[in-house]
Amino acid sequence: MQTEEAPASADTHCPYCALQCAMTLSAPDPEAGPHEAPLSVAGRFFPTNRGGLCKKGWTSPVVLGSPDRITEPMLRRDDGGFSPTTWETALDLIADRLIETRERHGPDSIGIFGGGGLTNEKAYLLGKFARVAVGTSRIDYNGRFCMSSAAAATTRAFGLDRGLPFPVADLDSARSILILGSNMADTMPPILSHLAGARSAGGLIIVDPRRSSTAKLTEDGAGIHLQPAPGTDLQLLLGITHVVLAEGLHDRDYLAERTSGLAELQRSVAQWWPERVQSVTGVPAWQIRQVARRLAEPGGTYILTGRGVEQHVNGTDTATAAINLSLALGLPGRSDSGYGTVTGQGNGQGGREHGQKCDQLPGYRKITDPDARRHVAGVWGVDPDSLPGPGLPAVELLASLGEPGGVRCLLVHASNVVVSAPNAGSVIAGLKRLDLLVVCDFFLSETAALADVVLPVTQWAEEEGTMTNLEGRVIRRRLAIQPPPGVRTELWIIAELARRLGSDAAFDTDPAVVFDELARASAGGPADYSGLSHEILDAGRPAYWPFPAGSRGTPRLFAESFAHPDGRARIVAVQVEAPAERPAGPGELTLITGRLLEHYQSGAQTRRVPELTLAQPEAMLQIHPSTAAEYGIADGDRVELSNARGTVLVRAMTTTDVRTDTVFLPFHFPGEESANLLTLDATDPTSSMPEFKTAVVRLRPRL
Ligand code: SF4
Repeated sequence: MQTEEAPASADTHCPYCALQCAMTLSAPDPEAGPHEAPLSVAGRFFPTNRGGLCKKGWTSPVVLGSPDRITEPMLRRDDGGFSPTTWETALDLIADRLIETRERHGPDSIGIFGGGGLTNEKAYLLGKFARVAVGTSRIDYNGRFCMSSAAAATTRAFGLDRGLPFPVADLDSARSILILGSNMADTMPPILSHLAGARSAGGLIIVDPRRSSTAKLTEDGAGIHLQPAPGTDLQLLLGITHVVLAEGLHDRDYLAERTSGLAELQRSVAQWWPERVQSVTGVPAWQIRQVARRLAEPGGTYILTGRGVEQHVNGTDTATAAINLSLALGLPGRSDSGYGTVTGQGNGQGGREHGQKCDQLPGYRKITDPDARRHVAGVWGVDPDSLPGPGLPAVELLASLGEPGGVRCLLVHASNVVVSAPNAGSVIAGLKRLDLLVVCDFFLSETAALADVVLPVTQWAEEEGTMTNLEGRVIRRRLAIQPPPGVRTELWIIAELARRLGSDAAFDTDPAVVFDELARASAGGPADYSGLSHEILDAGRPAYWPFPAGSRGTPRLFAESFAHPDGRARIVAVQVEAPAERPAGPGELTLITGRLLEHYQSGAQTRRVPELTLAQPEAMLQIHPSTAAEYGIADGDRVELSNARGTVLVRAMTTTDVRTDTVFLPFHFPGEESANLLTLDATDPTSSMPEFKTAVVRLRPRL
């Protein structure tokens, strides 16, 4: 339970994306008239946002006072509705059902699904709860849908996965920045101030099949927009790398001293000359050469990837190809250059470091590593052999719901899988097959609406904790307002359930104490937090991990060596494989999905902010005017998009920003507008990342 008094004002960070913009929350001025929100917000200077916030951040306190807020546990009635109940009754019921299921079907019949929005403390305790109190291996989280391909690629290449291995402010001095598959002008606008230097030098290069808000920043001489056909980013990267090597633009000394695998890279890109790449991607050969030459110019060059190129069945290989290009140019580990991936969710970085992933223990340790198991089991006070092995990654875990031998009871935290998971129709069917679905949320989200038990939890401004931003910097989240009576933190819920399940292990509810335990569990691991505490973070020390005891943290990684035992980065040659789904044929289009400025992820929070829903009330299908005319569709018409997985009904918005062979749909909306009814649950063989970005669809007007 939250016991601290709310202060008059609190310096904290935005609840949404991984930029984690700094803000100050305080009680609204009563003289200033009626308030929409229980707190007022002011942007606060921090090196990432420099005092700026986007629309989502400015309106974030509105969600705290939403009339939709759940403030009591709720139980499903026989007639399908919900009835409020006491915490005692709800937790007893859940524990009894879990114990019974575990006895009858084994611990792996219980699944836990976490989220990249959970604080580090919650993510850590959830992983411990799964493995110690429940004894299940079946834990994974929605970050599998976001960061897993980039994480797999950077681990493979550098031996370590920290999204940006340098502070965001390092981008300021770059002359050239290549951004692949990230629409940061909509998803995290304050970051744009860091692109100004590259834009004024004419060196902002955006790869996106859409003329997105970010791609438009390249206009008027500020840079170059490459618009490849959807699903051909890998070929484009192989083509740029081909030019770098063929024209001798690579950094020979760097490659010799700091990498291994150049010969394989040379062989793998040899067949991807620019004219061939043009025939596959549609990007002109001259532009491929222009970009390769620009990236090789002195003055600082960064290469950044985002979900647009990572959320594919070849996402790990595409991110690897971007890393290979950066290594060929000698960028990673240099003080003015580098490669990074732009993390999406608020705690997408910390959320993947402390044990929510099915194959990991805290500190980014592998669950299969005997030393890691011994260390973490020692901190937890349990026998290392009692810890389960690797579980199932998110898509497989969700596919097992209610199936023979699969998960029968599922606990969901900070995730709205009904809207955000691929092939959402089959996920909904799985959730309905469960014996027990428990959802912790602040609202009756689309997933909570299917639950047997809904537990109301605190929001970001109602709790203490830590997050780790896209730079690997650990920051404090602070209490600014007391939660409504009846609402509890996940730490309390986890502790109460662990006690009822008969666990002897400690499950503290004080975030500072949980953080100290997390820090001990992470000691010696790749993501080492052992030199950190809430107290140190409160003193305002920039805390980039690894931050072992006695250290000053690590703002820039790889300056001396990479994290592989020999200190070298691995160039892993990658090939073009068959796509998950055949290319669109006659009468078909390729659907790509993405985000809007006004909404965040499944929209469960931002769709409850009137100002944001007024601006973007519904999912609109972006379609080229000539394509629309071909299908007999006018701007604003209702249309039906369908494939074997599902059907979506939305209105059309004609725009020349999309290619004629492609349509775009935001994925923030539920029900008949839900883009993920159409996406594929085929996954990347290395990262288990699903294919979100390309799906073949049929389109027809809906009168
Ligand atoms: S949503 Fe992201 S960019 Fe917008 S204010 Fe919040 S942290 Fe900043």
